[in-house]
Amino acid sequence: MKILVTGGAGYIGSHTCVVLLQQGHEVVIVDNLCNSKPAAVERIRELGGKDVKFYKEDVCNETALGEIFRREQPGAVIHFAGLKAVGESVEKPLEYYANNVGSTLTLLKVMGETGVKNIVFSSSATVYGDVEDPPLREDAALPNHANCPYGTTKLMIEQILKDYAHAHSDFNAVLLRYFNPVGAHESGRIGEDPSGIPNNLSPYIVQVVVGKRDKLHIFGNDYPTPDGTCIRDYIHVVDLAEGHAAALKLFEKGNCGLRVYNLGTGRGHSVMEVVKAFSEAAGQDIPYVIEGRRAGDLPESYADCQKAKDELGWEAKKTLQDMCADALRWQRQNPDGYGD
Ligand code: NAD
Ligand code: UDP
Repeated sequence: MKILVTGGAGYIGSHTCVVLLQQGHEVVIVDNLCNSKPAAVERIRELGGKDVKFYKEDVCNETALGEIFRREQPGAVIHFAGLKAVGESVEKPLEYYANNVGSTLTLLKVMGETGVKNIVFSSSATVYGDVEDPPLREDAALPNHANCPYGTTKLMIEQILKDYAHAHSDFNAVLLRYFNPVGAHESGRIGEDPSGIPNNLSPYIVQVVVGKRDKLHIFGNDYPTPDGTCIRDYIHVVDLAEGHAAALKLFEKGNCGLRVYNLGTGRGHSVMEVVKAFSEAAGQDIPYVIEGRRAGDLPESYADCQKAKDELGWEAKKTLQDMCADALRWQRQNPDGYGD
């Protein structure tokens, strides 16, 4: 199938494009490179062993997007494009609503006009908020808003897709709620390339390992968990990428309507366990200091992944050790990410 991938030059998008190419799909990327580099597209071609069409374009640009859709006529869309920094979304809420919600509205309009009926959307475990205790199931009650504008854009987009699917019985949407993606392609050629100081745990730790940062700041060790640090469901980005390929198979089978799946491992690890795993993978101690809690962090979050296993035939295979080894290989081979 020809798949149009918005945000395909980004962290999760690039790994997914490689899996799609390896599984025989044709890939067209639309990315404005606001948080990624053209080198990522080159490396997708290299790892996928095939050419990929790339449009440097903003998904909010309706005219340009319409032209791309009319020319390419994709069978399905995977919509990764979006801004994702929690703290920045608190500072700049309008940018987040305009970009994340706005791009989705434009995309749906163009899909409708050009007869494209299949979309996979990058949602997040953040939509669960703190309404229910883990393991989190897809049918859990959702809050009205998340703990930050970024998370609320995901809740809003999920609702928009539900309403649109309700209004169009031939429209198919798969909402994938990612838990905590980490790691990199085992080749070390593509990986996560954050700009500035990393917000997330794994990219921060790997920068400590290579000496770009002095020490890790652990946000709180007084949570009600066995070692006092927060627990998350870390999933290898290549497992996550394969989850998208599994979701596309639903479209090949026919009309699936709107479906929601968690993509996680079903297992939680504490911050201290992650530090220990990275330390073992790196063969060196990771200096850290305990700080106060970070606003909005929940003590514990992990997925119930049974639904994805039953309906998509997908489950995560890689271990925390794989995630650490691959994240480190990427960082060591590319100390400055993709460069300028
Ligand atoms: P990323 O920033 O690496 O990739 C997003 C890509 O989208 C970037 O290449 C960026 O340039 C592009 N983009 C942003 N706005 C655009 C626009 N208007 N038009 C065209 N391109 C645009 O992020 P990622 O980690 O790969 O995340 C991909 C998706 O998954 C995002 O929607 C994110 O919210 C979601 N998600 C990520 C995580 C995570 O921890 N990484 C967790 C849950 C959900
Ligand atoms: N964390 C930390 N130090 C950091 C970054 C993150 O202690 O520099 C903790 C954070 O408080 C949370 C866990 O690591 O408990 C995962 O955070 P991350 O931002 O990676 O993912 P989140 O689950 O918040 O999306």
